[in-house]
Amino acid sequence: MRLVIKIGTSTLTHATGRLNLRRFHALCETISDIKNAGHEVILVSSGAIAMGVGKLGLPARPDDVPTKQAAAAVGQCELMDAYDRSFGQYHHTVAQLLIAREDVAVPERRENFSNTLFRLLALRALPIINENDTVSTAEFGIGDNDTLAAIVAQSAQADLLILLSDIDGLFSADPHRDANAKRIPVVEAITDDIRKLAGGKGTPNGTGGMATKVHAAEICGCDMVIANGFHPSVLYDILEGKDVGTRFVREKK
Ligand code: GLU
Repeated sequence: MRLVIKIGTSTLTHATGRLNLRRFHALCETISDIKNAGHEVILVSSGAIAMGVGKLGLPARPDDVPTKQAAAAVGQCELMDAYDRSFGQYHHTVAQLLIAREDVAVPERRENFSNTLFRLLALRALPIINENDTVSTAEFGIGDNDTLAAIVAQSAQADLLILLSDIDGLFSADPHRDANAKRIPVVEAITDDIRKLAGGKGTPNGTGGMATKVHAAEICGCDMVIANGFHPSVLYDILEGKDVGTRFVREKK
């Protein structure tokens, strides 16, 4: 299987912005093992801004664009250095790809991007992708890594997209507010009701960033699973078809 795995900032870092080492190493070990078992993996990793904030010792995540971009520039190095060292322990070679909106909007650039991805996979390297935050902004860029991961899954003709985050999946109501909210194991079709559950347009953070995740399911071109990255072993459960998270079944056209 060709897998695209997106790892959110909340999975990678503590609230301080420093790397959650225990979880980070468990993730790298699990992903290495999945590659050893013969699967192809592409990572889409967030965390650059948070790690830059931690490394620069800023008191909080900045609001202004230049400081965010500066933090991303510092944090991206730190992040890739950590990946390189951790995956290196298991003899896997990482490759960094930083993507801006033009790189996937302009057909020739998108083709170059796909060609590089395919070549890296053929060389058995592990592509690690993030938005090029130093030149992209929320308004003028791809904007969020759920969407970026879906674009990557589509460009790479992936079999499965996995979004690891700090939520267990899509719920029948907002689990922070409704004790009766139930996890929805499988979504067969993305209807207006499903979009409404995800918070709808205009409230992208209504239920923990669900709107961008449901949108990702609509554009990724393959099955997609949203799962909690708290225990990285959830990746094994997903590959074994266990009932974890929410699986969005690709709509047959
Ligand atoms: N590219 C951002 C970062 O690395 C994260 C964007 C997102 O998580 O949606 O910090």
